[in-house]
Amino acid sequence: MEKPLTAHIPKDGSWLRLKDYERVGGYQGLRQALKMTPKEVIDMVKDAGLRGRGGAGFATGLKWSLVPTPDQIPGPHYLIANGDEMEPGTFKDRLLLEGNPHQLIEGMIIGAYAIQAEFSYVFLRWGYQFAEKALEEAIHEAYEAGYLGKNILGSGFSHELSVHISAGRYICGEETALINALEGKRANPRAKPPFPVVSGFFGRPTVVNNIETLSNVPHILSKGVSWYKSLSKCEDGGTKLYGVSGKVKRPGLWELPLGTSFREILEEHAGGMRDGYQFKGALPGGGSTDFITAEHLDVAMDYNSVAKVGSRMGTGTIIVLDDKTCVVGMVLNLEHFFAQESCGWCTPCREGLPWTEKLLLALENGEGKMEDLKIFDDLTRYMGPGNTFCALAPGAMEPLQSALKHFRADFERHIHEHRCPWK
Ligand code: NAD
Repeated sequence: MEKPLTAHIPKDGSWLRLKDYERVGGYQGLRQALKMTPKEVIDMVKDAGLRGRGGAGFATGLKWSLVPTPDQIPGPHYLIANGDEMEPGTFKDRLLLEGNPHQLIEGMIIGAYAIQAEFSYVFLRWGYQFAEKALEEAIHEAYEAGYLGKNILGSGFSHELSVHISAGRYICGEETALINALEGKRANPRAKPPFPVVSGFFGRPTVVNNIETLSNVPHILSKGVSWYKSLSKCEDGGTKLYGVSGKVKRPGLWELPLGTSFREILEEHAGGMRDGYQFKGALPGGGSTDFITAEHLDVAMDYNSVAKVGSRMGTGTIIVLDDKTCVVGMVLNLEHFFAQESCGWCTPCREGLPWTEKLLLALENGEGKMEDLKIFDDLTRYMGPGNTFCALAPGAMEPLQSALKHFRADFERHIHEHRCPWK
């Protein structure tokens, strides 16, 4: 099984230096891209079926193709790699940033060439300090070798790349809040449309892509579309970094074909449930997705298949719920996080999430009422898609509304028994 993204990450905790990266084919994708027109590069990424790995799964080639060309809108264009990885349960980009920063840098230069961007930024989560160090050194190596800067490899294309350290908020992972933060403003999301591809950083055409997404790009260029499509088990291309946390025998992260079954990830790679624990459910793609249950164990972990069972692939990092963990407590923990991370800009999110947290806390403490369950339904509607500025609140309500659907009896037991039955 090929693992292009992770195969060459050193096992000793260090990162792949430029010479070692080049030895395993590094920067061949960039060399290939620079022989092609920007449109040909975009078409290749489109044909490869690369979908955004940040959570939403938007087609990468399509996103790039929506950027007006410099002929259409002259002046600076920008590319931003979103490394503000803060989705609960998600720790996949960290591995790529810390272990193979050149792969990301190469993907960024190719992406920048495709959209004709003069500047790009890695917007990095504050806590990722090893990644910062590796990235800064790798960027230095790339400049020294002529992969960055003026007239890259004699192609006439010039590009500057730098790292921006985020102040550390979940909302900065939302691309328009991220752009505001990068401009030095408060990290409030902007209304979309206009999408950043048209009006982003300082109002200029800007592409924001996730770290894992960009790390795929060099391989598409160097090894081709059919090879890339053959890596996956579904209609979209490539591999995926899948993670598992919770009461499993071997929590961790694995690069597997996109579309690997949930059962295989859980039972073979994560080693199944720890002794004495039963699988009860899981959030398949980070904290802001809907629970799936035992009846969905055979779902293929790809964007379309997970959507068909009522959830989202999200970041592909699974959080497992077991029979000895209180689902109300788990959701309370998540809603506490989301309420704290709301930027406070739009009323439904600012008011709705703390209210949700308060009701859940009362419920967990045995002070809940049956009417509260109805209020949760109302709050889910008020904070639903279209009623808020960004996806934070609708995403935050996904674990709660799906927990109420699949595990309603657990909520009712808290009310009837006036206590948490799991404590
Ligand atoms: P979205 O669906 O609004 O957009 C996804 C991407 O596609 C964006 O870049 C957007 O600009 C682009 N896009 C969508 N429609 C477009 C159009 N018509 N024209 C041009 N571009 C278009 O989703 P989002 O709000 O950006 O992201 C939500 C996702 O982020 C959720 O799935 C959540 O799980 C995930 N998330 C991940 C993390 C993390 O740490 N990885 C953190 C927070 C949220």
